[in-house]
Amino acid sequence: MTTLDDLRRKAEAVALGEAAFLSEPGDIDLKSFVEEDPEGQAALDANMQYMMTVGKVPVRRDAHWASGAFSPCGRRDWLDFHGAIPTDANMNYDIFGMGEGIEDQIVNKYILAGQYVRVQDRITINDPRLRMPIVGKMDLLIRSRREFDLLFPDDELVAVEAKSTKDFGEDYGWNVWKKYLPKKEHVGQLVLYMKFFRLHHGYLAYYNKQRSITVRYLVTRRGDFERFYDAIIQRYMETEASLAGPEPGIPEGFKGRAFPCVWFSRSPDHKNVPAGTCQYFSHCFAEHPIELAFP
Ligand code: SF4
Repeated sequence: MTTLDDLRRKAEAVALGEAAFLSEPGDIDLKSFVEEDPEGQAALDANMQYMMTVGKVPVRRDAHWASGAFSPCGRRDWLDFHGAIPTDANMNYDIFGMGEGIEDQIVNKYILAGQYVRVQDRITINDPRLRMPIVGKMDLLIRSRREFDLLFPDDELVAVEAKSTKDFGEDYGWNVWKKYLPKKEHVGQLVLYMKFFRLHHGYLAYYNKQRSITVRYLVTRRGDFERFYDAIIQRYMETEASLAGPEPGIPEGFKGRAFPCVWFSRSPDHKNVPAGTCQYFSHCFAEHPIELAFP
């Protein structure tokens, strides 16, 4: 039986950063035959990193990514377009895997609802104001049904963009977390898909990874929809204008202590420990030289 003392001991061990098992039943010591394998896990992760990058040659980007609508850093865009070799190759591929799994689960819900039409539809928008096209992949196309689409008419093709997210900024509860959604860049991505497929409605389907909760937003082609699209194009035009010039400086206000340059764990025992950085962080904030494949 687990006693209050057991729970206290576990809480103390966790607070100290030690692995802690509750012996259950009490006379069996799990630590006598269970141990952590950090070196093996690190070797597997390093191999993953190697396998995902080996043999890759830089390819000149010749399009804007729909997912880059309202990119937070023009300097990073410039470096990407010039084929900069990352100074901080600390990509966590597990995060991508988790995102893909969550997307599958969201798609599955629409399959079960009998609404599924297609996944991963590619788009290419050639806006006359831009020199390069905008490309992207829409997560899911569904057909609306009265039982599930209560805010607009039945039997309409609808875009769905699935996004996994986490508790950023959420310390006080569900309503605080929801206040940060939906993100402007996610709405931008969906607006581009709706424009390309001439759709009247689209959904942003969010999944909170830490709390396993979902929230859905409806985007309708009305109000400032077209002005928002124009604002996206304007941002891409600014990117194109900067590409012909020298490497832009670090944007004003970026001190290398916050997103999108660096981000931190919100775990109480890992506060102030970076959980990840932009792939050009050391170039920007530690003066590491940058190598450009396409200067
Ligand atoms: S480290 Fe920050 S300033 Fe530098 S490219 Fe990345 S996001 Fe931009």
